[in-house]
Amino acid sequence: MQTANTLDMLRNNLASLRASSGAGSASPATIGLVPTMGALHEGHLTLVRAARAQCDHVVASIFVNPTQFGPNEDLDAYPRQLAEDSAMLEAEGVALLWAPDAAAMYPDGFASSIRVEGVSEGFCGASRPGHFDGVATVVCKLFNQVQPSHAFFGAKDYQQLAVIRQMARDLDLTAPHVDAIIGVPTVREPDGLAMSSRNRYLSPEQRRQATTLPTAMRAAIAQIEQGDDPSDSLDGLHAALLAGGFDSVDYASLVDARSLQGLTELGGSAARLLVAARIGGTRLIDNMAVG
Ligand code: AMP
Repeated sequence: MQTANTLDMLRNNLASLRASSGAGSASPATIGLVPTMGALHEGHLTLVRAARAQCDHVVASIFVNPTQFGPNEDLDAYPRQLAEDSAMLEAEGVALLWAPDAAAMYPDGFASSIRVEGVSEGFCGASRPGHFDGVATVVCKLFNQVQPSHAFFGAKDYQQLAVIRQMARDLDLTAPHVDAIIGVPTVREPDGLAMSSRNRYLSPEQRRQATTLPTAMRAAIAQIEQGDDPSDSLDGLHAALLAGGFDSVDYASLVDARSLQGLTELGGSAARLLVAARIGGTRLIDNMAVG
């Protein structure tokens, strides 16, 4: 695995990769991009495996993007373990690791930002002002820097995936560079908690309590699917999270799976339950299909 820390190194390495088509065919090599902030776990590695299965070469990025963190968020505390992450990516067959520092990503004088309206508003967009502007801007830069044929994102960050898909459509990023934005289902711990780099902030007691999140979500979904009034089930979910040890609930909402518009009842189109809740200083998010 090659590692690039500067845009020049990245471009040189990409040129060599593009020249070598994995299957020995005449068509240009396909490149799958897996953007991450590092502190890798099985969720990230599942994205890498999906990329390997679909593309000739995998490029992973590790960049703890300062512009998607709010002033009182965990930017400084966010776990950084480049050597360990690098070994994990190499073992998964990643061809190229793009690991710029903040100065390489945002050189002096950097002055641009991308705002995706609609799907970025509400939910995490409301709890974390500016977060999705930071995500959209850095992901657009990653697409332009790497020019992948495919890009892989986790459904764990459901609203993020919706924002990226909208941006790619609006800004014509999906062709010719990114032909496909692929959402990969959430990878969970055996007890159901969605894997997250932030789970390591939890004390053993909080980690046990955190299981309430997927358990209470499944219970609410079963009620809604049986025909209960969703607002009663969401109230029950909120109460169950607080009773289970969560300190507050940012949101627990039933939404249209595509538009992320709130739903008061199940209709013909796919629905999704989105939740964000805080336990101690840690904010956990999860989402599941409904119906
Ligand atoms: P992050 O490093 O948290 O920015 O995540 C990088 C990518 O991994 C994003 O596309 C996430 O949605 C995805 N991801 C994080 N956790 C999981 C998980 N438990 N299952 C699937 N994908 C995940």
